[in-house]
Amino acid sequence: MTMTVRETTLAQHETRDSHAGRRVLVTGAAKGIGLAMAEAFARRGATVGVLDIDAGEVAAAVSGLPGASVAMTGDVSDYVSLTRAIAQAEAEMGGAFDTLINNAGISPKHAGVAHKVWEMDPDEWARVVDVNLTGSFNCIRALTPAMVEAGRGWIVNTSSVAGKTYFPIVACHYAATKSAIIGFTKHLAGELGPHGIRVNALAPGRIATPMVAGVAAELNEAEVRRTPLGRLGEPAEVADTALWLTSSESSFVTGQTIDVAGGLSMT
Ligand code: NAD
Repeated sequence: MTMTVRETTLAQHETRDSHAGRRVLVTGAAKGIGLAMAEAFARRGATVGVLDIDAGEVAAAVSGLPGASVAMTGDVSDYVSLTRAIAQAEAEMGGAFDTLINNAGISPKHAGVAHKVWEMDPDEWARVVDVNLTGSFNCIRALTPAMVEAGRGWIVNTSSVAGKTYFPIVACHYAATKSAIIGFTKHLAGELGPHGIRVNALAPGRIATPMVAGVAAELNEAEVRRTPLGRLGEPAEVADTALWLTSSESSFVTGQTIDVAGGLSMT
């Protein structure tokens, strides 16, 4: 029987425990790339805090995960709800998070043709900035005091190929936040490096998740035609890159934004 790329990578995870003893917070982890991240880190021996804004979905997601995982409900854009969920999870796990995967993100105009800038609702602009950019800041703000005290930590932010170059399939708020993540990552790598904390980012291309499933088929097909590897990516392939960025195998890598895009963007 032929295994898919995802099944092959998951089978490999079974055999290694590179993240044993680590406490990993993954945001936006009830589905899509975040859920694949949670699965991958759990299979590598980490205790995973699985945080999502949707309480029902996060409970269902955690029940299907291997290893030790903690369900967390919170909105990354709301510092009070976020820090409450973090405090509860850390009490349950018996220690502070040392690894942060800032994955939660929204793209409200993904489902159709992206709005032009002059049609953009300022409230929608603000919500996308709050979740995609301020949400990452909030998580970093909450977790870095313990990382600095411990003298070690790993942070992976989520950009997009749309943060590097023009993709008409997304709207300007999404592109602006994903571009800001790249500069934010570089700054924090400089600021936190002396404290033993590495900060990198991922720039996924078209990945088969619920976010992308909401897009018209012909738009996804057009993106696949532009992708040298000729297919959508699998969430597990993005998770694999996060595993590497938070492992000893990338110990001299910080401040980088790594494309996981099948060559869709080579900037
Ligand atoms: P998705 O929509 O499939 O899943 C996102 C998850 O985040 C959902 O479970 C949702 O409930 C949760 N979430 C949304 N807002 C939240 C909030 N305020 N607080 C906590 N959780 C929240 O998305 P995905 O496709 O898996 O994308 C994950 C990340 O990867 C996003 O940052 C996205 O911008 C980025 N990305 C995705 C693609 C792609 O092709 N799928 C490409 C480039 C970048």
